[in-house]
Amino acid sequence: MTKDADAFRQLPSVDEALRSVAGAAAAERFGRSATIASLRRALSDARRAIEDGATAPRDAGEIAARAAQLLEQEATPTVRAVFNLTGTVIHTNLGRALLAEAAIEAATQAMREAVALEFDLTNGKRGERDALVRGLLCELTGAEDATIVNNNAAAVLLTLNTLAKGREVIISRGELIEIGGAFRMPDIMARAGAKLHEVGTTNRTHEKDYAEALSDRTGLILKVHTSNYRVEGFVAEVKAPALARLAREHDVSLVNDLGSGTLIDLSQFGLAHEPTVAEAVREGAALVTFSGDKLLGGPQAGFIVGRKELIARINRNPLKRALRVDKIRLAATEATLRLYRDPERLVEKLPTIRLLARSKDDIEAMARALQPAVSRTLGDALETRVVDLSSQIGSGALPLETLASAGFAIAPREKHGAGRRLAELASRLRALPIPVIGRIEKDSLILDLRCLESAEPFLENLSKLAP
Ligand SMILES: *Cc1c(COP(=O)(O)O)cnc(C)c1O
Repeated sequence: MTKDADAFRQLPSVDEALRSVAGAAAAERFGRSATIASLRRALSDARRAIEDGATAPRDAGEIAARAAQLLEQEATPTVRAVFNLTGTVIHTNLGRALLAEAAIEAATQAMREAVALEFDLTNGKRGERDALVRGLLCELTGAEDATIVNNNAAAVLLTLNTLAKGREVIISRGELIEIGGAFRMPDIMARAGAKLHEVGTTNRTHEKDYAEALSDRTGLILKVHTSNYRVEGFVAEVKAPALARLAREHDVSLVNDLGSGTLIDLSQFGLAHEPTVAEAVREGAALVTFSGDKLLGGPQAGFIVGRKELIARINRNPLKRALRVDKIRLAATEATLRLYRDPERLVEKLPTIRLLARSKDDIEAMARALQPAVSRTLGDALETRVVDLSSQIGSGALPLETLASAGFAIAPREKHGAGRRLAELASRLRALPIPVIGRIEKDSLILDLRCLESAEPFLENLSKLAP
């Protein structure tokens, strides 16, 4: 008891700690208020430690150093760059598409300056923010009109709410998808105020199923790209052209939610053919919805393209105001779309396409060049082998398609407790200044190098690995 009381008395006051060399340096760097708040925390931690009979910093300098450490931790941004070595190129949990330099420049400029966002520079009158990307979207998709919102989930919500509020939406049971992050078609439909009318079965839906469901209560027919799965075997789906014809005959609209949506034929890069937005428009959908930050390679956004009078109705919906995008993303979107005017140079300019198109030979050569240094850094207890891998596109685009890739399989030489050692290694890699994110597969930690474009920063970062 008396020992405790002594220990408490030895603790400095906030003011004393602030006047210490470390305290003054922290105040200079982080500001006086923040430093005082942190000193209070350090002092109360020390008091608690004394109560628990643990060792605690005692003098003013030690308390100030502890406070500075806390401030340092808090100053690390929580939105941090990581090395995505998961093998999934468009990784939703790691922020999806990396933007093109042109998009980054445009966004930065828009952040720094006033921009003609809703201002028509030709006549000096109020303009419309969608006009900034409408022309490009129409040109690249062949649609009559286009609009942009926060993301594709918003595009679907807004479309359903505008065209089918209080009405039925006919959709195949096989297309009632759930996408990660709780995007479930039936829930979105309910929130949009539309009534779900499912037709067909999980594996087979026929034209007559749709035809029988059509009535004067129908708001629209919805076709959804089953982005993240495939039903194989005894299956039947009704293709968009047939649905478009059926919809027209009954004077309702076909809406095609493409999900990822690509603007170019990916087969030129050795990938499977994914329906393009232009194809979906040509197939007769009244509206097509797709994402900005999946295969398209831009910032988060959702696009709705299609018939003029429908887009006009969507733009009049008050929800549109709640779902609109800001100037930063509009600028980045415009710059990204512009790159598609020069498809031959997309591989060079658009990171998403560049990473998807990157050859296995190139990736493997990099892995071989890095192997000795990586192996040395990781130490003798771990074996680092160069292996063939399969990358994935991610974000539900071409879910069964894999891309031949290469990278490292890292495994503990001592098999006893290998699982724990692997988890430890993964955790040490995540604790690096730039966290390295791989995946654990069987008995190895896998680092797929597809998304690693330059070796130097990677090695420099890895050299800081904690023992
Ligand atoms: C990804 C996806 C969505 C949601 O798009 P976000 O841009 O993530 O909001 C909707 N529908 C389909 C078919 C998708 O693949």
